[in-house]
Amino acid sequence: MSCDIGLYGLAVMGQNFALNMASHGFKVCVGNRSQSKVELTVQRAKEEGDLPIVGSSDPQDFVSQLSKPRKVILLVMAGKPVDETIEKLSEYLEEGDVIVDGGNEWFHNTIRRSKELEPKGIHFLGMGISGGEEGARNGPSLMPGGPRAAYDLLEPIITKCAAQVHDGPCTGYIGPVGSGNYVKMIHNGIEYGDMQLIAEVYDVLRNVLKLSNKEMAEVFEEWNRSPLNSYLIEITAKILAKEDDETGSGYVIDYILDKTGMKGTGRWTIQEAAERSVAAPTMAASLDSRYLSARKDERVKASGVLKGPEMTSAEIPIHKGQLLDDLKWALWASKVCSYAQGLATIKAASDDMNWDVNLSECCRMWKGGCIIRAIILQKIQDAYTRDKNLPNLLLDPVIAADINNCTAGWRRAVVVAIGYGIATPALSASLNYFDSYRRESLPANLTQAQRDFFGGHTFERTDKDGVFHTAWTDAHKSIGDINERK
Ligand code: NDP
Repeated sequence: MSCDIGLYGLAVMGQNFALNMASHGFKVCVGNRSQSKVELTVQRAKEEGDLPIVGSSDPQDFVSQLSKPRKVILLVMAGKPVDETIEKLSEYLEEGDVIVDGGNEWFHNTIRRSKELEPKGIHFLGMGISGGEEGARNGPSLMPGGPRAAYDLLEPIITKCAAQVHDGPCTGYIGPVGSGNYVKMIHNGIEYGDMQLIAEVYDVLRNVLKLSNKEMAEVFEEWNRSPLNSYLIEITAKILAKEDDETGSGYVIDYILDKTGMKGTGRWTIQEAAERSVAAPTMAASLDSRYLSARKDERVKASGVLKGPEMTSAEIPIHKGQLLDDLKWALWASKVCSYAQGLATIKAASDDMNWDVNLSECCRMWKGGCIIRAIILQKIQDAYTRDKNLPNLLLDPVIAADINNCTAGWRRAVVVAIGYGIATPALSASLNYFDSYRRESLPANLTQAQRDFFGGHTFERTDKDGVFHTAWTDAHKSIGDINERK
């Protein structure tokens, strides 16, 4: 019997997603560069209830086992391995077949591959997958972008295998090719922001309030029953409560080296935000924090020469209950700003590339299965349902009212952290984003004046239309009016 779908690339994600599809009754043919993973996957399928998974010995055998039009999901390492795999498989694929790359791929690569496959009539989709190993097995968030007709062939399978929330499966058509990877990339940028914000709050809890790991775990557990409810808050509570089996004393968290790893999607997000002229300071602060964390040796040296404040609670009075509450709302408001930046970046790209991405739908797809799943996404989804062209999330009246209610505590929390010398780059960046965005007038008039002074870059005036240049000094007068020179 021929298979409903093929999955090529059987590391963590591929193996688990193949088992997921098979659990939903789809017959899956699996393939991998090294044969041992094929055998392992077939073995796991047997052990997990005789699931309908068949192995293949090489690309030709893999393709020959698929029913037409063939549907192939790739889950190999992003970059060159994807090109190599496409080259091998497409030799045996035919017009009308569909390849879906489920990796974390740079969206321009996906667009390029789709063009390369066009002459053969093979459709190509880029589908962001989030949820890690557990999500891939039990229901991830799936963000596919590509030709609509090809998506329609895939839809019956992916809507069943994605995570399910009250208003549907955590997947849906994102838009043309590249858009699915783009939305996944921004998802990861937001994930960086969420993780950094939580880390900063943890830093204040342990270094200002001097809470123990157990006490912090309880705080995060309690916050998980509030509007902060999210997967990342939930796992933070579990992480902080985990005792160390290795040594039999203390907590695992205290043995982990403070150097953060990364694979690149956060950097791409910031590059893209800059490319689209979108301010993304919270996500940028998260990326910077990872870079600084990686320079451990330098930081160790710096800790011997650079001094922080020697604050005591007498200088900045701390009221535990108040600070806990302030941190909670600072975290909530900062997270909203971070989502606002991510969604504004998607909107800018979608406008530039005519993708017509529905931001409300993106939020709906992120409500389950993925790493940034959080109760707050319902509110954000509702905001974009009210107005799909909202220029910025903060302009939604419900979100605006909620965030306005947070500002007093948010400011107090940041002031305390700064006073104690605890770096809170993402919490502060969010607050500064909010304080810049909400102001009718910014000091940018001075910046424009300086640009005009040293470079004759001209400026607009508040009292009349046009482009102006001022002869700021006698030296400028001798150079002459820029408009005359033009
Ligand atoms: P990896 O990214 O670790 O890639 C390993 C897989 O790629 C193996 O199947 C390997 O085959 C194959 N591979 C490597 N080089 C080649 C090559 N030149 N030709 C053919 N196959 C090759 O696997 P993951 O499962 O972690 O991730 C798969 C994709 O999903 C990646 O794009 C990743 O970024 C993305 N992703 C991963 C998540 C995670 O939590 N791990 C979460 C969300 C997305 P072999 O066994 O022969 O070495």
